[in-house]
Amino acid sequence: MSQLEVTDLARGFGGVQAVRGVSFTLESGELLALIGPNGAGKSTCFNLLNGQLRPDSGRVRLDGVDLVGRTPRRIWAMGVGRTFQITATFASMTVAENVQTVLLSRARRLFGLWRPASRQFRDEALALLARVGMADQADRPCGVLAYGDLKRVELAMALASDPKILLMDEPTAGMAPAERLELMALTAALVRERGLAVLFTEHDMDVVFGHATRLLVLDRGTIIADGPPDAVRTDRRVQAVYLGD
Ligand code: ADP
Ligand code: MG
Repeated sequence: MSQLEVTDLARGFGGVQAVRGVSFTLESGELLALIGPNGAGKSTCFNLLNGQLRPDSGRVRLDGVDLVGRTPRRIWAMGVGRTFQITATFASMTVAENVQTVLLSRARRLFGLWRPASRQFRDEALALLARVGMADQADRPCGVLAYGDLKRVELAMALASDPKILLMDEPTAGMAPAERLELMALTAALVRERGLAVLFTEHDMDVVFGHATRLLVLDRGTIIADGPPDAVRTDRRVQAVYLGD
């Protein structure tokens, strides 16, 4: 069991208080949706959790260990993963090679001086790709993949680092509705199988209410609701934010 504990997190940009007084916990087995209107502070929260941004105040702890002030790389190594946005750098590498690269980084972090070659991780990469339904495309360059397939590869790459907590900022952006539901169903199954804890943002409410185990609603940098989907759905403040009344 792992636990991420966020306490009174705050971060401003000039005059804009993007995140203020955000507190919540995230535990193994949870698929927690962070929702809220554009500009509510969702991406800023993600960047604060994985060390890309430093909070003005507040704490982030993973299993009791402080994360604030550590580098993104260190936080990743401690078990806070994030779905990769595959860049052009990786487009010419095959699907399997991309996953192997992450497995190699993880092995270096775990075994220090040992210098394994990335090809040693092919079997492990293929097993992860099979789990996300991409084994048959293992030897194709990432650059030629359909968008939805690339998203599955990104998920396999995130799993390759063996995270305790996985952060997914708009994992289904740009996907067709049916593909979105499929990707989240797969993510939900992985949460159960691996005891993962996932925090994700999503605009599609069918995806959110179909799969999240819990919802956090952010409005203008503040959490206005935190609870199971059915309770949040009927919350008056949440309805006011979404329906504008
Ligand atoms: P969301 O992801 O919920 O759409 P963001 O976290 O991206 O919201 O943004 C929250 C607020 O902080 C917005 O008002 C946005 O304009 C502002 N903001 C975010 N990042 C920066 C930045 N790097 N510099 C200045 N303002 C920023
Ligand atoms: Mg955002």
